[in-house]
Amino acid sequence: MAELAGRTALITGAGSGIGLGIAQAYADEGASVFLADIDSARLEAAVAAARGRGAQASGITADVGDLASVQAMAAAATEALGRIDVVCNNAGILDDLMPAADTTDALWRRVMGINLDGAFYVCRAVLPDMVARGAGIIINTVSISGSRGSRGGFAYTVSKHGLLGLTRSIAVTYGEYGIRCNAISPGSVETNISTGDNWPPIGRTLREKGLSTRPTRAKPNDIAPVAVFLASDRARYVNGHDLVADAGWTVY
Ligand code: NAD
Repeated sequence: MAELAGRTALITGAGSGIGLGIAQAYADEGASVFLADIDSARLEAAVAAARGRGAQASGITADVGDLASVQAMAAAATEALGRIDVVCNNAGILDDLMPAADTTDALWRRVMGINLDGAFYVCRAVLPDMVARGAGIIINTVSISGSRGSRGGFAYTVSKHGLLGLTRSIAVTYGEYGIRCNAISPGSVETNISTGDNWPPIGRTLREKGLSTRPTRAKPNDIAPVAVFLASDRARYVNGHDLVADAGWTVY
């Protein structure tokens, strides 16, 4: 029996990397998926790939950092799926490993806007229906940068710490309404996320120190099974958890 049969899921940043891996795994496990990405070409390919795996799939080009775009996305997902059982707040960007003193207002706002405001906008849009139904599952792609100071630049690290706080607050506040909210924290995954190539000396030192202890990088399909578990009934008693999937990088 497919693990997510009959379940519906909205996945952001589903056109590439970890989000694409989750979309494919959910499709394989029988879920109906609604995919969102800012990149239309990637989105179209991801929807076609999910359909090719036998899933009911559709999607929308959306920018999670833009409130109106998120509201349109949530409405379209509800329309297409009937209801949203699972939300994966996965869209995110890196920060070129910039330290605080080198972080421009524009970089700060861009990283916060997508990594943190985006998840907030999505949660606020979907929670009322979940509360009304007494059920819902929210899964946020955080990072080991969400609990460590050394795995990203300044804005990325702060945004991911914030996303972990968002996860815990929603878990505690909405748990009694049948809603579970958990984080997945990957270590290093081979994806299209850009690390940039313009690191100032402080960022470079940080990166080299961190990389010296890094285990073999994951592929997106090493992370996707974690998202399947958290979306399944096997995780029914798991709420507010930060599930680290980093091959032991943070315990080195
Ligand atoms: P990726 O670049 O391969 O995929 C991210 C997708 O999100 C892309 O298709 C991109 O077009 C889309 N996207 C970017 N901005 C968007 C926006 N404003 N609205 C909607 N979609 C948008 O990167 P990835 O590595 O798969 O990253 C996915 C998530 O995983 C991110 O939140 C990232 O912080 C997190 N993460 C990645 C790693 C890693 O090593 N790759 C490690 C830990 C956490």
